[in-house]
Amino acid sequence: MRINSVHARAISDTRGRETIETTLRAGELEATASIPSGKSTGSKEAKELRDEDGGVTTAIRNVTGEVANALGERDFSNIEELDSFLCELDGTQDKSRLGANAILSVSIAMARLFAQKENIPLWRFIANTAKTIPAAPRLFVNVMNGGAHANFRLPIQEQILVVGEETLKESVTIAHEAFTQLGDMLRTELPDLPIGDEGGYSPVFDTIERPFELLADIVSKWSNTSIAIDSAANELLDGNEYVLLKKRYTSDELLELYTHLIERFPFHAIEDPFAESDKESFTKITEKLGKKVIIIGDDLIVTNPKLIEDAATHKYINAALIKPNQIGTVSETIDAVHKTYEAGWRTVVSHRSGETYDTFIADLAYGIGAHGIKAGGLAQQQRLAKYERLRAIEREATELSM
Ligand code: PEP
Ligand code: MG
Repeated sequence: MRINSVHARAISDTRGRETIETTLRAGELEATASIPSGKSTGSKEAKELRDEDGGVTTAIRNVTGEVANALGERDFSNIEELDSFLCELDGTQDKSRLGANAILSVSIAMARLFAQKENIPLWRFIANTAKTIPAAPRLFVNVMNGGAHANFRLPIQEQILVVGEETLKESVTIAHEAFTQLGDMLRTELPDLPIGDEGGYSPVFDTIERPFELLADIVSKWSNTSIAIDSAANELLDGNEYVLLKKRYTSDELLELYTHLIERFPFHAIEDPFAESDKESFTKITEKLGKKVIIIGDDLIVTNPKLIEDAATHKYINAALIKPNQIGTVSETIDAVHKTYEAGWRTVVSHRSGETYDTFIADLAYGIGAHGIKAGGLAQQQRLAKYERLRAIEREATELSM
């Protein structure tokens, strides 16, 4: 496929920050992709290129200038060729020259063009490329936001409702009902209930347990629901200890707290229970609790195939969060998924805390048959777009199988 035109522009993400949106044309075909942005990031993520004032003018110029010129001279027969070409053009390990945001916007738009050319849905294209079996993911809905996404009103970044009904239509319906019920419950104590960065409620409580008492109540109403958290513990670390609600915890004390929580409440998963530097504690928690709940790595492995291999060797975790913009191309994201499956782990595909209307992660999650998808709370249109795309994918899959 040969690209005839490349356009890129700045749009706003859910936090009102600028982010890049790129449109590619190849003959009659046209595809667009926009890129989200994280706040509680891992230190080894591919680098998103930002101007000094936080804008994306340089990233846009890289796409419409250097990348567009280079693409114009070439034909690409598959997404891997395009992605290797982009990585070579960038020339750095972390994509800091052209910017991971700039590169990924081209890579995702190109994946869409390839899918259009083959006249298949994007999730089918991803499954064919990755050689995976498409399947509906569980919804990991971040219903109560804390940590860096909500001025630490709650110490834990994400209190998540996991919904795993047979169909996505049912899961999405339950997610909506549960979200409304939780909002009603919370507003009886807090009439002015704020919303956090990821479109979930952002209450304040004076105990660690209180959000889980409320969630356990919600979960008791539906059979295929449970609780998960993302501690995003990089953000809780102060020296060698973790600080939650002004109380200091050693790593072992924090492990005791998690043990207590999963004994008391119907937990399914814990993401980033410790900081990325506290690797020994990851091995300890996976050994101790990994049969009862899945232990998901995010900042620890940053969708990086090499770091995933290393984490598998040391048995740090037993599931991987997959965020395309942590690594910067579609092909490397798929490599990360392969490494995760080779380790015998589950994958949870994830949005970022600064999101756009782009729904690529819904197709990715379905295409690779991910265990789950994190797409946020239901109070932001950009998160709802992903849930609606999942429902559309389910309809497409039914039509294709008929
Ligand atoms: C996360 O930590 O899983 C997350 C989605 O947050 P951010 O995008 O801020 O990294
Ligand atoms: Mg995380």
